[in-house]
Amino acid sequence: MPRVCGNCKYVTDDLFANDCPLCLRPMAMSSRVGSMGGTAAPPRGWFTRRTLLVVALVLLVGLPAAGAATVAVAPTLFLEPAGDADSLGSIRTGMTVRDACTALDIEAPPRAFSGTITWGRSGRILRVRFNTGKVVNIEEGHLPFTVTVTKVQPEVPGRQR
Ligand SMILES: [Zn+2]
Repeated sequence: MPRVCGNCKYVTDDLFANDCPLCLRPMAMSSRVGSMGGTAAPPRGWFTRRTLLVVALVLLVGLPAAGAATVAVAPTLFLEPAGDADSLGSIRTGMTVRDACTALDIEAPPRAFSGTITWGRSGRILRVRFNTGKVVNIEEGHLPFTVTVTKVQPEVPGRQR
């Protein structure tokens, strides 16, 4: 049975704490806690810690997950034209689809591939457009979170975007 200070409502589980450490007055047994209305605070503290934990989890897991989903669905939101090469110089216009895929460490589509490959690793995202097996356009973007995206989209003849 915990003990409670009748003066400052300090509560302790120490049965042998006869005097309140805060105001040095004799402490009573806890049967009087309810009548003093001192029971609301501890659950509230627990809920606050739990809420903080949930918020931290949402920030750590939810935000990158939502970001990765956004990248997968609408990569154009993050991409800007990169010119003749990406920022690392590993993807250049005129490259073959095979060499480009080797540089990106992904499986290459057929040799005469036309279409786009959207590739994201860590905080970097690339969208490379191919025409009959050669790189013709490079777009690059940087994200504030980690993504892993590999999306190969063949271009349907006569239905160009
Ligand atoms: Zn006290």
